[in-house]
Amino acid sequence: MVRQGLERHVVGRTIGSAQVLHPRAVRRHAAGPADFSAALSGLTVTGARRRGKYLWLPVAASAPSPAEDALLAHLGMSGQLLLGDPGRPLSPHVRVRFTFTDSGPDLRFTDQRTFGHLAFAAGGAALPPMIAHIAPDPLEPGFDEAAVIGRLRSRRTSIKSALLDQSLISGVGNIYADEALWRARLHWATPAASLSRAAAARLLAAVREVLGEALAAGGTSFDSLYVNVNGESGYFGRSLAVYGREGEPCPRCGTPIRRDPFMNRSAYSCPACQPRPRRARRHDHQDRST
Ligand SMILES: [Zn+2]
Repeated sequence: MVRQGLERHVVGRTIGSAQVLHPRAVRRHAAGPADFSAALSGLTVTGARRRGKYLWLPVAASAPSPAEDALLAHLGMSGQLLLGDPGRPLSPHVRVRFTFTDSGPDLRFTDQRTFGHLAFAAGGAALPPMIAHIAPDPLEPGFDEAAVIGRLRSRRTSIKSALLDQSLISGVGNIYADEALWRARLHWATPAASLSRAAAARLLAAVREVLGEALAAGGTSFDSLYVNVNGESGYFGRSLAVYGREGEPCPRCGTPIRRDPFMNRSAYSCPACQPRPRRARRHDHQDRST
């Protein structure tokens, strides 16, 4: 996993240089590439944190002083942060290269499609201001389960739409939503407002399980990156119960998995384990119109 790898290999090290090889990679850093490089050189990385699709490395002026600022990364669809021998050849997709004062492994931000970006977040060690609006994900220490259950049950959409709403819970995409709903034995079109508190808690527990297993299997906590750049689904693909398995037997009861159209995508479910709720149709239409 990206965050843990960074924590293990980058924390405690001092950035020697930050070389911007492609200005687009720092386009959100308003003061420009030269300012980005100057701001980070000489700072020591003190941690590696994540929220939704963002990662950030709190940085301090010197080791004993507390981190105030941060290096923020959004990996986009194809971005990667790779550590390796500083002498290895520079691939054409490397956008930013960080060297460290210890001359150990360097850190390279590679991004084939340049959708990702890096920024220097002044004062952003605890939480970069530009991502403060993003909801915590269920594996983050700051995740307030009771509050999220309350907000989930006040939504006027289907539970699947609510799960995908990044302002409510971050990190859940189409794949993980379908897998979590299957585990919680809930149909995707169930109106969020009709969930009991216990069912909502069961669903969040299932979400946490699915995200945790994906991380443990070396995947990411967010499934847009779960399919790698070659278009192959990762290790976790082998353990998917419903997603992408239309017509195949449900691992729990053997009933063929069903695929329904869902907001220009698909929703996979087991018709036996996840019976469609009555009166759900009206909510489908609401979802499509939003
Ligand atoms: Zn089933």
